[in-house]
Amino acid sequence: MDTATIRDTLEERRSALDAELRELTAIPRDPAAAVSFGKRIGDGTTEAVDRLAKVGAAEQLAAMRADVVRALEKLDDGTYGLCDRCGGPISDERLDARPRSVLCVHCASLRLRDT
Ligand SMILES: [Zn+2]
Repeated sequence: MDTATIRDTLEERRSALDAELRELTAIPRDPAAAVSFGKRIGDGTTEAVDRLAKVGAAEQLAAMRADVVRALEKLDDGTYGLCDRCGGPISDERLDARPRSVLCVHCASLRLRDT
């Protein structure tokens, strides 16, 4: 993939993530407002579980978006395809499968263990 294609892919991904995040975070905080938005009444547990799931999803999306933004920065400064942690090359297969990769497989697995 050439750089322009990667940039297009990443920018599309960022817009899609922005849209998803907007939808997820557009949950009204005021219960009365939630009712007027057609939410279930008297089903607090389901509501809470639903909200937790949405918070989790929003966190995942935000983390994904941060990677996409970082990958775009790396395209700009010419370090795209190099690991942010160890500076080693990120494999082409990994970049093909996941263009937002900013860590090599090894460092990404370390980060997963950290969090
Ligand atoms: Zn690395």
